[in-house]
Amino acid sequence: MTKEVPDYGHIMQHIDTLFLDRDGTLIVECHYLHDPDQVQLIPDVTASMRILCTLGVRFFLVSNQSGIGRGFFTTDQYLSVHNRLETLLAQEGIRLSGSAFCPHSPEQSCACRKPRIGLWQQLCATHSLRPETTMMIGDKKADIGFGQAVGCAATALVHTGHGLDQARLLGLPALTQPLALCPAGPGWPTLQAHSLADVLSWLVQHKRDSYAHRI
Ligand SMILES: [Mg+2]
Ligand SMILES: [Zn+2]
Repeated sequence: MTKEVPDYGHIMQHIDTLFLDRDGTLIVECHYLHDPDQVQLIPDVTASMRILCTLGVRFFLVSNQSGIGRGFFTTDQYLSVHNRLETLLAQEGIRLSGSAFCPHSPEQSCACRKPRIGLWQQLCATHSLRPETTMMIGDKKADIGFGQAVGCAATALVHTGHGLDQARLLGLPALTQPLALCPAGPGWPTLQAHSLADVLSWLVQHKRDSYAHRI
């Protein structure tokens, strides 16, 4: 049994901004995805996203797209995938507040490939963002590292996409329920969950509790 898990309930109540990774987090992982027809949302995310939107939570997308830098697909192809994603979300009444992507290969040593924080800075130029009310959710170590480098209030590793492998790589405790807070550990996220749907419904629960207390 782990005792060092902090109580994050009060932090979650103040989260008003969610930074999401795209591949393996918001949509089903598909190796170097560049075909709009293959865009598929992770199951069961839209209902919670809609509720969170009505509670004033904003969603931003931050994505490493090294397939562009490696010459596997073009920026236009990335944009057509992104348009498809926005259409799927719009059909469910959900709008992203912003998105940014890194088109570089790792060899280009840019400032915007997660875990570096260039994508956060890009979005800061046009949006009012505060790390202390932001949570970063992704399926890779680089996503967690990004959230931590930004100084986000919380980070979450989902086990979809590459998440399960990455959890093992990080040496996280085995996940025996849909969502669990993590004890403090080197590069460890605040919490891990089976999927984005679990993180979002948990967040909805916390936010509803906080509203109930205020009434
Ligand atoms: Mg990913
Ligand atoms: Zn970059």
